[in-house]
Amino acid sequence: CGIVGMIGNENVSEVLLKGLERLEYRGYDSAGVYVANQNERHLVKAQGPIKQLAEKMTSETTGTLGIGHTRWATHGIPSEENAHPHVSQHGKVVLVHNGVIENYRSLKEDYLAGYQLVGETDTEVVANVIEQRMEAENLSVKEAFKQTLRLLQGSYAFALIDTNDVDTLYVAKNKSPLLIGCGSDFHLVGSDALAMIHQTNQFIELFDGDFVTLTTNSMVLEDAAGNVIDRAPYTAEIDN
Ligand code: GLU
Repeated sequence: CGIVGMIGNENVSEVLLKGLERLEYRGYDSAGVYVANQNERHLVKAQGPIKQLAEKMTSETTGTLGIGHTRWATHGIPSEENAHPHVSQHGKVVLVHNGVIENYRSLKEDYLAGYQLVGETDTEVVANVIEQRMEAENLSVKEAFKQTLRLLQGSYAFALIDTNDVDTLYVAKNKSPLLIGCGSDFHLVGSDALAMIHQTNQFIELFDGDFVTLTTNSMVLEDAAGNVIDRAPYTAEIDN
């Protein structure tokens, strides 16, 4: 299973697909991407190999912001509905996740009474709790995401898109691998460096509890204590 994401000035679809192919070795049963720009929103998911996903994407599946996922099912059968990215009920957020949210049942009971979820994943519960927090508490996506993270028990690497803001990509990590890739006019996120090495060899390591807000040319990294941290990139010596 794996995650790849990108925010930049050019179409990210090919980069995401290539990244997902490079994450194939980790194992998966389904895959999906969400790409967006000012005027477009595209969600494409497929059960089975990345090839199936690639075939469902067209020359119009483009955007300057995007997230991709290969899923290794832990909650809910392998299916298109359960494949990530997951869009919240009212379409406010789009989420990909590696890991397991252990308390997803109680979260569902506590926050999502009356919600009609599309699939059975723990991840879809989290996407909807974020949206529920936004609506109930009048919070921004960032605030609602952070508040939701504090409610979670389990492991996660998350990449989150606010569908009303195509200039920002949010990521959070706890006990599942995730790192940032840095370019001159783009940022990437990925489960490992291999997923991004076709674009950059500059990476920033993430630790448990880190929360990152990325734009094309800026990055704000908050650690588990909530402090804004300056962490320098390292250069990876991997052949492209
Ligand atoms: N627990 C999530 C699911 O079953 C994520 C699995 C993964 O890490 O791919 O959908």
